[in-house]
Amino acid sequence: MINIPKGTKDVLPGDSYRWQYVEKTARDVCALYNAREIRTPVFEHTELFLRSIGDTTDIVNKEMYTFEDKGGRSITLKPEGTAGVARSYVENNLESCSLPLKMFYITPVFRYERPQAGRLREHHQFGVEAYGSPSPAMDCEIIGLAYDFLTKLGIGRLSLHLNSIGCPECRAKYNAALTAFLGDRIGDMCENCRDRFSRNPLRILDCKVEGCRAIVAGAPKITDYLCDDCRAHMSELESRLKDAGIPYVVDPDIVRGLDYYTRTVFEFVTDALGAQGTVCAGGRYDNLVESVGGKHTPCVGFGLGLERLLLLMEQTGVGIARPHIDIFVARQSAAADKACRALVRSLRAAGVSAETDFLDRSVKSQLKYADKLGATYVAVIGESELESGSVRLKKMSDGSETDVETDKITQFILKRIN
Ligand code: ATP
Ligand code: MG
Repeated sequence: MINIPKGTKDVLPGDSYRWQYVEKTARDVCALYNAREIRTPVFEHTELFLRSIGDTTDIVNKEMYTFEDKGGRSITLKPEGTAGVARSYVENNLESCSLPLKMFYITPVFRYERPQAGRLREHHQFGVEAYGSPSPAMDCEIIGLAYDFLTKLGIGRLSLHLNSIGCPECRAKYNAALTAFLGDRIGDMCENCRDRFSRNPLRILDCKVEGCRAIVAGAPKITDYLCDDCRAHMSELESRLKDAGIPYVVDPDIVRGLDYYTRTVFEFVTDALGAQGTVCAGGRYDNLVESVGGKHTPCVGFGLGLERLLLLMEQTGVGIARPHIDIFVARQSAAADKACRALVRSLRAAGVSAETDFLDRSVKSQLKYADKLGATYVAVIGESELESGSVRLKKMSDGSETDVETDKITQFILKRIN
């Protein structure tokens, strides 16, 4: 037997309705916000991710699925959704569309990680990106979209953590202060942090190791180093979030794992998933489009992990209605076969979901099967039904029965299921 690769998962027929529900909710909320879908390839030139994500990040350093194709090009399976969108935006000259432009994607994402609950090698992200507005109103819009989506799904135990990591100017000042603080202490920190110290000290704030966290707790806070413009941006965003009734906490330790962020960063975090508590993460990235060869374009967006979201829904008891079929048409004998299939055809044509027998089973076992499928109604077609031109419909939930003329069945069911 050939097994599924480590860190990947099948979505089975009995479970896919949960994915479809979440994806449909995402699409519905995006439509309300005028965000249009964008689809980019699963693989890109490796160079794109090196330039956009940054070579001091975990993703680029150790998590990318990179290989040489038969033409000798270095190709990488997308480790996140934002870079491909930026590449497409520049390549297709989308800035000639009316800006701002809001886009969304639902995509598989590949990272070579140590698999555990909520951490896979192939996972899926729902992401939203807004291009062309530097205003904190757009930060609030995008956070609001994520908030509405999560609220619509009925998810509790999530809180919004917000921070600003400033612009390259204030970050340089902060980096100097942080480096000075960490200088005496870096010897006591983990190997990863020692490596980050010379390459990208800000990332040390993101370390999950207990000892490192304790040291970092006393470090200078970036919020104390913001320049006037970055500070104004943050306080404007905060007041807009308050106006919109979106609760949040300011959390100066959030820095995000990717290099391209500027100013606003945020995460929706839960305490219900252990160490994999970040369900949605995003922020502003005003310099990304330039870094992939476009004009300066302010952007803000987020990526939301669908596996973690579904896990959280399961663990906090958010129910999703199981799929069902409206009617199962059982056939009593071979003589009724034609009539049975004709009825199923007309039901389906009218928008009623219908199933019938394909295994020449007894009526009893057809009804058992119908019950397993969760059919709302069941009808049995036999000699007497063919003669009388009427069918007895049984409602499975309460066992009640009604005789309905064959040509009125569709109407009868449509009235009751809608
Ligand atoms: P983490 O700190 O958990 O590694 P990250 O900072 O690498 O997360 P992002 O790159 O911001 O995560 O990705 C956005 C979202 O995608 C995360 O908040 C999470 O919900 C999800 N995600 C990221 N990596 C994985 C993974 N390996 N498996 C499942 N979901 C993931
Ligand atoms: Mg990660």
